[in-house]
Amino acid sequence: MDGLMQDVPLTIDLIARRAMQVGADLEVVSVEPAGVDRRTWTEIGERVLRLCTVLDEIGVAPGGRVGTFAWNGHRHLELYFAVPCSGRVLHAANVRLHRDQVEYAIRHAEDQILFVDASLTGTLAPLRDRLAVRDVVVMDDGAEVDGAFADCPRYEELLAAAEPAEDFARAAENDAASVCFTSGTTGNPQAVVYSHRSIVLHAMGALMVDSHSVRRGDVVLPLTPMFHVNCWGLPYSSALAPAKLVFAGSDTSPEAVARLIESERATVLAGIPTFWVQMADVFAEGGYDLSSVQRILCGGAEAAPSLIARYLERGIDFLHAWGMTEMSPSGTAVWHRSGEDPPAEGAQGVPVPGVELRLVADEGSVLPWDGQSTGELEARGPWIARAYLDPDDDSNATRFHDGWLRTGDVARIAPDGTVTIVDRTKDLVKSGGEWISSLELERALVAHTEVAEAAVIAFPHPRWGERPAAFVVPASGSEPSPEELKEFLQGAVASWWVPDVIEIVAELPRTGVGKHDKRRLRAEHASRLAASVEART
Ligand code: AMP
Repeated sequence: MDGLMQDVPLTIDLIARRAMQVGADLEVVSVEPAGVDRRTWTEIGERVLRLCTVLDEIGVAPGGRVGTFAWNGHRHLELYFAVPCSGRVLHAANVRLHRDQVEYAIRHAEDQILFVDASLTGTLAPLRDRLAVRDVVVMDDGAEVDGAFADCPRYEELLAAAEPAEDFARAAENDAASVCFTSGTTGNPQAVVYSHRSIVLHAMGALMVDSHSVRRGDVVLPLTPMFHVNCWGLPYSSALAPAKLVFAGSDTSPEAVARLIESERATVLAGIPTFWVQMADVFAEGGYDLSSVQRILCGGAEAAPSLIARYLERGIDFLHAWGMTEMSPSGTAVWHRSGEDPPAEGAQGVPVPGVELRLVADEGSVLPWDGQSTGELEARGPWIARAYLDPDDDSNATRFHDGWLRTGDVARIAPDGTVTIVDRTKDLVKSGGEWISSLELERALVAHTEVAEAAVIAFPHPRWGERPAAFVVPASGSEPSPEELKEFLQGAVASWWVPDVIEIVAELPRTGVGKHDKRRLRAEHASRLAASVEART
């Protein structure tokens, strides 16, 4: 027997219409070189309808890819809606990558048209002749346009000349909506293809109180870039709530963000731990009125309890979330609430509603949730990838099986479903045939009051195969010595886990999305460290 409920497709136009209809007095605010731009969600919706016509006139075929090379801002947001709602596929390229990687991503995604912020035309200029796209449209953010793009059509002119499309709906729910590349910290970036359905369900999930908890009346300021996992889906969940949305543009320095929080009265901030480490000092210095902030959404890497505590003591609730590009990104989450007892043991929280997890041993057996067994985390759910874009990619066979995604993260799960990530499989250190978790060593190091950030890598060792080396950024005003830190670790981890080398550094290399770049650390230091051991033995 069929259910007799309306079969309304879960397509992004559903979100766009809602934002337009019930967001008439809620703003989208964007910081641009020209100044601060303010529009209501209703006005954004009207521009999106005209942008749909522009895409028709430019002649991008249904399913054709439309690239962006842009900061977080309202034009980028308009493309987030117009491209999928008009039946095309959005690809937000990472503006922080090396130009060869940008060229690779644009070619691999087969972008036909590229929308570029005027302020980024200079960055893209060296690539002008290598871009495999048919056309470039310059988005007028008030910055000067590089000569290489002087002849390109202008976004605002195209929009002004276009009639609004009648409606947004030209896609089926399982059609592709956007393509996003993984950050490639452990290998070549791979393209994940989100569908309308996955984006709508993920946005609905994000409104749940135990997940991102975005709600009507919030003022959401995402510090995560729009080229990283669809900005964690925040443009869509904020439109669905709807919430006021604030975009920081190119300047995401802690001071600029503090000014923006103060002027827009932001209630919800979202970003990765390395950002919250810097931002905590700005909160502590008290130079700005940041009293509007109620909640922080943090994910992408592990947040240390000492970091979370710095926000809780200011009355700010802190969501610690685990996820990945292949998961749109939401996988697990736990709220640390100011003034309440800390959550149960386990760092990354429980699976968010809609996501199923299992732990799998090397030989393939499914492990119990006993808080002890460690295995690879596998995930299943309506916003989790089932393949990468490239059908010839070998990873399709290794990462996806029986309807599950192999996350590449090793974890343990407590009987109540609380997940603790042990490490990424590729970051584990294999010493004398036994595994050492680089993440657990980092956890132990950042528990030291004089340590702000830590990254641990493996380096080749003649006797043990591999040994760990730690790179430590001191907390501001501190000067911990490697010996002191080694001694501190002796009490916190098994003695054979203590890194052979601890180096104090001013900063750690970052990936294009701002996480610690362990691949670069290994490339830059592993052979030097190995050679110094060889010399001593
Ligand atoms: P990406 O696809 O670039 O977002 O990277 C996803 C990876 O980041 C995951 O597979 C994890 O290894 C790591 N990650 C994300 N969130 C967390 C977290 N809260 N704790 C520990 N690792 C995390």
